[in-house]
Amino acid sequence: MVRTRFAPSPTGFMHVGNLRTGLFAWLTARHAGGDFILRLEDTDKNREVEGSADHILECLNMLGLERDEGIDVGGPYAPYMQSERLAIYREWAQRLIDTGRAYADPYTAEQVQQFREQAQAEKRPFLYRNHRPENPPTWDGTTPLRFKSEPKSYEWHDEVMGDLHAGAEVVDDFILIKSDGYPTYNFAHIVDDAAMQVTHVIRGQEFISSMPNYLNLYEALGLELPIFATMPHILNENGNKKLGKRDGAKDVLEYVREGYLPETLLSFIATLGWNDGTEQELFTRQELIEKFTLDRVQHSGARFDEKRLLWMNGQFIRQLSLDDLWNRVVDFWPEGAENSNDDYRRQVLALAQDRLKTLHDLPTLTSYFFAEPTPDWSMIDDNKQLSKIDRGRLVELLGATKSALESSDFSADALQQTLNNLLEQTGEKPGTLFSLIRFAITWAPFSPALPETMEVLGRDRTLQRLQSAIDAA
Ligand code: GLU
Repeated sequence: MVRTRFAPSPTGFMHVGNLRTGLFAWLTARHAGGDFILRLEDTDKNREVEGSADHILECLNMLGLERDEGIDVGGPYAPYMQSERLAIYREWAQRLIDTGRAYADPYTAEQVQQFREQAQAEKRPFLYRNHRPENPPTWDGTTPLRFKSEPKSYEWHDEVMGDLHAGAEVVDDFILIKSDGYPTYNFAHIVDDAAMQVTHVIRGQEFISSMPNYLNLYEALGLELPIFATMPHILNENGNKKLGKRDGAKDVLEYVREGYLPETLLSFIATLGWNDGTEQELFTRQELIEKFTLDRVQHSGARFDEKRLLWMNGQFIRQLSLDDLWNRVVDFWPEGAENSNDDYRRQVLALAQDRLKTLHDLPTLTSYFFAEPTPDWSMIDDNKQLSKIDRGRLVELLGATKSALESSDFSADALQQTLNNLLEQTGEKPGTLFSLIRFAITWAPFSPALPETMEVLGRDRTLQRLQSAIDAA
């Protein structure tokens, strides 16, 4: 039975990297028909940020990563919040004390600093185990409890990183329980993973250097090893350094507020360092569950490319049914849209759908369907082709367009025909004439196909806008 866990600390917002670890753990469980556990690692009270736990749940729910066990749903190994498991850590700590593998740390911070400086002066690495007290006091909980390591070298396998090894020099006596009574991550996660029967430990790269210490502790506790899978770093767009806030490591929910679909984020995060062996980038949730395996997670860093995210979002928006899209854009309509009926708004939405990169683009793409745009001839002056033609001729062309449209039927097909005839009649190229008409009826930098736009706007408004454009020239 595969059991994976996502074990975030409540220290602030989740970005794509944090959430990727959760997603891969969830996918590993779902792929194997196993269980996914959400454990909150809240033992560092100094770093805790209020509201983080709710935020974590909101992010998981947004992606649809439901829990089988965890802080919100309970389960057979509850509690799943580390701060509520202190008695359990004490019990396990006692076992280590009883077998001579843990001792009370008698030193003050100043004393430790002295050891450190001394090691530095002698140009040797500082190792705590070189300073073990000869007669440690009985541990009463007021001082840290330290692990008594048994240094040796290790070889181990990581599902993502492959076969790894490290020498005995990195194994040291680390703190198990701090003087505030809370366990360290190093101790608590091993206790909990064992107690909760976790089979796969899937986590970020920052923990890999501590593996020899963890292996030493697993041995001291007589525990079987779980499978380890270390996620590669997420790198900035250029792939030359770790993703930081400046490169877009922001709150994942921020993307949703900006009009990214959860489907997009799911595929985007899944393909940060994973692929199914093909070029496919857009996956449904079901496809991911079927195809995801840890051995296809690449071990080099994954590049975070916001342009790819944007492209993917446009693709996912296109795939939505109009009804589905309609329900999702409720908060994204431009001002004035509330005065139009649903039927009209649905027509506008159908026209805009293919051009939406994010839901947030809706106002820019459709505002002229709901409010009269102000003619702005500087847009025409700035246009490469149109700026070559003198204004008198442009006005003449708009006049000809207006007359042709006056006698045209206003279905998109008929309008297309009318526009084609107009090309012949004026001898202009489509790129010139149609751009001009586009400006005159939308005054927007981008707009959907012209005949469809005019059909939805209707005869009166289209003609009126052409006249306003001529008047403003
Ligand atoms: N609490 C750790 C963190 O948030 C989790 C590491 C792990 O998954 O074991 O970084």
